[in-house]
Amino acid sequence: MMQAPELPPFDYQPQPYRGPSAEEVLQLRRQFLNPGLFLYYKRPLMIVEGKAQYVFDEHGRRYLDALGGIVTISVGHCHPDVVEAARRQNELLQHSTTIYLHANIAQYAQKLAAKMPGDLKVCYFVNSGSEANDLALLMARAYTGNYDVIALRNSYHGGNAAGMGLTAHRTWKFNVPHGFGVHHAIAADPYRGAWGRDDPHAGRHYHAIAADPYRGAWGRDDPHAGYRYAADVRSLIDHATSGQVAAFIAESIQGVGGCVVFPENYLKQVYEYVRSGGGVCIADEVQTGFGRTGTHYWGFETQDVVPDIVTMAKGIGNGAPLAAVVTTPKIAATLAQRIHFNTFGGNPVVCAQGAAVLDVIDREKLQANALKIGKQIFAGLECLKAKHNLIGDVRGKGLLLGIELVTDRATKEPATSECAQVLENCREMGLLVGKGGLYGQTIRFSPPMCLHQRDADFLLDVLDRSFSVV
Ligand code: PMP
Repeated sequence: MMQAPELPPFDYQPQPYRGPSAEEVLQLRRQFLNPGLFLYYKRPLMIVEGKAQYVFDEHGRRYLDALGGIVTISVGHCHPDVVEAARRQNELLQHSTTIYLHANIAQYAQKLAAKMPGDLKVCYFVNSGSEANDLALLMARAYTGNYDVIALRNSYHGGNAAGMGLTAHRTWKFNVPHGFGVHHAIAADPYRGAWGRDDPHAGRHYHAIAADPYRGAWGRDDPHAGYRYAADVRSLIDHATSGQVAAFIAESIQGVGGCVVFPENYLKQVYEYVRSGGGVCIADEVQTGFGRTGTHYWGFETQDVVPDIVTMAKGIGNGAPLAAVVTTPKIAATLAQRIHFNTFGGNPVVCAQGAAVLDVIDREKLQANALKIGKQIFAGLECLKAKHNLIGDVRGKGLLLGIELVTDRATKEPATSECAQVLENCREMGLLVGKGGLYGQTIRFSPPMCLHQRDADFLLDVLDRSFSVV
């Protein structure tokens, strides 16, 4: 039996819950919702209220939400400013579309564009990350006149046809035709890739590398790893396409794939290859945007690149169905070739929420907090790695962190069932974390960026105890 540490004190009383029981809700789900919807935990958790970095179940039990509604709660659950912005707009006008003028969408676009570097100044709002990536592909193809797209293995870009085509995990890809013209380059994964941090000859879970113009001093801490992985993109352009491509797309840190951080210079070199092949570069900032990486507002900045198109979702709206594609005026102009319309995109309510989120991130200095608390957690995770052999790798930036679990550090055999057990143990002690990686072997942390030092201590303490009983 695990002894749970105490959650940090929090002066907030959840409302009494009067709805159906978890068991009743589960029955309704089983009967009326698609069985493809999956649940975390053997004993499914029902969440009925949220405040800042915490959520409450139907019994009023509090949990530290270290997954943030899957990287979506950026500024904290039910942040009063976001709630108030939505409430005010809901009372005035809940819906209007872009066929009429409305101040919210125009002013929000201006505010969001101000956060972007270079020429990335034109926004198109949609409702989800999948839609944003679909639209980004359309723009890239319409702009370049090319068709082929390079994406990365181990990526996740959505569940619609376009997103699934870009995604590269068998677990998320249905056996139906999708993703015409998409080619997947090797993931620049410093832990499992061939030019990683460890002995490149160990284990059976390494990817085969197609081309290696830098063959030579490879292996532990290879300083050229970024270039070596990038060479695979060039090889794909040369061998799998006409030599002319529409786009390259990558998450700035692979989220669903298990918080994979690319080696330095990787995107920089890839962007050069892609642009010389006539393509545009798309950054999927669905998880990495809005200050979460701590050092930068956008994840792509950690790789020192400026993309041509940026897609955003999740944290952009702190829970509102809001997503965006931001690009240059030149690329944006290609969408005027035909009529393009999205009923809910840029809805006045979600734009009000989105604007409030931007303000809160700045006013409460959440990016700086993500850096500070992220460093604290990272250091603590490194200590846990020294203590628990199951932890093979600690990685991430700011408050987007992951630990990969392996049954054997030499072979890197994924510790899938152990990972599931750690998740269960954490939940029992009041901590919600996420899971990722092809084998479900990586624990992910992406809490609201308002996380406190005390929460980080609690998280590390719970995790430590969770590993002790796996
Ligand atoms: N891109 C990334 C990087 C994501 O993590 C996700 C969602 N997990 C998506 C795109 C798709 O977003 P949505 O679920 O809003 O369609």
